[in-house]
Amino acid sequence: SVDQPARAEVVIDLGAIRHNLGLLAARAARSGAQTMAVVKADGYGHGAARVAAAAVDAGASWLGACSSAEALDLRRAGITARLFSWLDTPDVDFAPAIAEDVDLSASSAGELARIADAARRAGRRARVHLKIDTGLSRNGCPPYAWPELVHRAAAEPGVEVVAVWSHLACADEPGHPSIDEQARRFADAHAVARAAGLDPLRHLANSAATLTRPDLHFDLVRPGIAMYGLNPVPQREDLRPAMTLRSSVVLTKRIDAGESVSYGHTWTAERDTTLALVPVGYADGVPRTLSGRMSVWLGGKRRPVAGRVCMDQLAVDCGDDEPAVGSEVVLFGPGTRGEPTAREWADTLGTIDYEIVTGMYRPRVRRRYV
Ligand code: PLP
Repeated sequence: SVDQPARAEVVIDLGAIRHNLGLLAARAARSGAQTMAVVKADGYGHGAARVAAAAVDAGASWLGACSSAEALDLRRAGITARLFSWLDTPDVDFAPAIAEDVDLSASSAGELARIADAARRAGRRARVHLKIDTGLSRNGCPPYAWPELVHRAAAEPGVEVVAVWSHLACADEPGHPSIDEQARRFADAHAVARAAGLDPLRHLANSAATLTRPDLHFDLVRPGIAMYGLNPVPQREDLRPAMTLRSSVVLTKRIDAGESVSYGHTWTAERDTTLALVPVGYADGVPRTLSGRMSVWLGGKRRPVAGRVCMDQLAVDCGDDEPAVGSEVVLFGPGTRGEPTAREWADTLGTIDYEIVTGMYRPRVRRRYV
């Protein structure tokens, strides 16, 4: 499209990503573990390739993507670090990923067979991480089918078994009994692999377990959310949120007491006031369900949004202040200046901050890296 100033922009602080990843990698290193930076879903909305480069810079030796297509996008962006992807549909051809040196996950004998077939076509061995379902009950091999999967993998010349891995359900609730139960099942699964003559790496820990369970770091940790500066655990951690959503004032106007604002007239001025119009709405990632429940940072203060969030705009109640047209409006950010945070949005909406930042991949919102 025509290059014009952005109506709204997501600013990504790569220094914050490097700081956060450095902190996580240092924790992992203390346990002798390496760090896989999880950059799936376009780097949780932060831009996978830029985040990946920053993470590698700050000490990540592996990168984790969801699909092999995401992993291949990273290769095309020039990322040469060790890459792992774990969830594809049954019709995906793994050969391009194998040719590009992407490690793959297998949760079933069928998936393993498809990887082995692709490896033959790609003319090289595939590096495979066998996934055991230890209790999350998502993808991963159920324990009853595990010995067969392990034996098939060990006997398959087209694959090299690199790792045994799993994913935790409740690591963000430290002390939850499922964590130890999953760790127990993980140990059993590893023992089966060892008994089959394999010597695989082990990886289990997400951000929460990286921060709270050094005993579960094993060979490799897989943090995602904490790298983006969002803390998944109750304890304080020195993490810096990397994402800020900002826009600016395009119009101000005085309205009289008794005038109502936006669709449905759900908000009525109790006194004469100034409205500031901001050109950002639900098409730009500001949920309409925040209407009546959100404020923005404008002119050094939090100010409430008046009435409903529209598709392309919202109005801010500025009282007796008259912000200049062009003034910065921060929708959410790290919170260091007093602005709302992604966590606050999530709490208001009854969701998690993962969903807020991941939802910020919007064609109309420009991404800028600082
Ligand atoms: N590992 C796997 C398999 C995941 O799906 C995810 C994300 O959900 C992560 C690691 C990273 O988790 P978190 O963002 O909680 O650190």
